[in-house]
Amino acid sequence: MNAVTGFGRPSFVATPAVEFATSRVASYIAAHDFAHPTLVMDVDAVERQFNALSDGLMTRTGRAHIHYAVKANPHPAIIERLVGLGSGFDAASRGEIELVLGQGADVDHVSFGNTIKKASDIRFAHHAGVTLFAADAEEELDKIAENAPGTRVYIRVIVDNEEADWPLSRKFGCAADKVMTLLGRARDLGLIPFGLSFHVGSQTRQARMWTGTLDQVAAIWHRANEAGFGLQLLNIGGGFPAFYGEDIQHPTSYAAEVMGLIADRFGDVPQIMAEPGRSMVADCGAIAAEVILVSKKSEDDLHRWVYLDIGKFSGLAETMDEAIRYQFVTSRDGDETGACVLAGPSCDSADVLYEKRPIQLPVTLRAGDKIIIRNCGAYTTTYSSVGFNGFPPLDQIVI
Ligand SMILES: *Cc1c(COP(=O)(O)O)cnc(C)c1O
Repeated sequence: MNAVTGFGRPSFVATPAVEFATSRVASYIAAHDFAHPTLVMDVDAVERQFNALSDGLMTRTGRAHIHYAVKANPHPAIIERLVGLGSGFDAASRGEIELVLGQGADVDHVSFGNTIKKASDIRFAHHAGVTLFAADAEEELDKIAENAPGTRVYIRVIVDNEEADWPLSRKFGCAADKVMTLLGRARDLGLIPFGLSFHVGSQTRQARMWTGTLDQVAAIWHRANEAGFGLQLLNIGGGFPAFYGEDIQHPTSYAAEVMGLIADRFGDVPQIMAEPGRSMVADCGAIAAEVILVSKKSEDDLHRWVYLDIGKFSGLAETMDEAIRYQFVTSRDGDETGACVLAGPSCDSADVLYEKRPIQLPVTLRAGDKIIIRNCGAYTTTYSSVGFNGFPPLDQIVI
């Protein structure tokens, strides 16, 4: 259920980084007025989250280098901070490559991880000096061979990921029986078949949930090496969780446990890279929003409808299927609560955030009240439409 607490007094605390971020962000929001919904990000908290993850990824049993998944939150101040910390970057487009290089990222630590790339973007990346590309299909390898000849490629493997809250199955990757064909084709095309990648599914809450996925990928890894490919790189993708109300492990122990599971199954791997997106930024920011209307649809309606000035099309797309359940904080917390259907402001009936599982909000809540949506630093600004219905895109302030 949703935590309803006073400003700056979070009832759930996932990590020390979160605790600090929440209070600093919360006091900033409490002290300011916002004309539009605004994401307030604490970039120092991003640094702590990076360090916490890195500590877990650098263990006795192996070292994984972080390539931040830029799409989670591409604010230049965040990229710049991560560049300073020595992070690598997983870019999905020409625009993301330009962004990270513009902030000073070392091109040797930039990978082009989207398996669906335009030929012209591959050519751009190649000329910019990027030498590591993802693929999951013959035609993609042909494009890479033509536009970035001789480069390194890793093959993305499809995995079952029923454990994740936000699965990434089906669209990306190829089945085990195709991996060998693609590695062979890459070699025949003069590319370097460098490794394998997978994504366990976003918001995989516990490290032990990786076990089934790692078993599947390890079987393919060993088969490829028995076939003589001598793979160098295991790209373990993202999936590291943020705190949305359900218990999660501390990022360091989570990452260390994943590294242990990898060591058990893969043995010595020359290079491992991880691509956290959500866990790097989600807990480091909150959105300041406003209640526009509280109403009932009939005199005996059991639920109130609460309409906010932010919705599915202005940053909260991950409420799709009510998959990600955000936490709300209001200045009336402590008052009696009641069940609400929560909806956005646009004139689209799909713009309902939580209805199947209504949320609890104070019965005293009314139009004009400020409402904070916690742990919104990932996948919000990037999912915001440009001006649907005349509502501006989600603002962002980095403190
Ligand atoms: C989106 C994405 C990630 C980040 O996933 P999170 O679950 O947010 O950590 C990592 N790798 C790839 C290839 C992605 O597309």
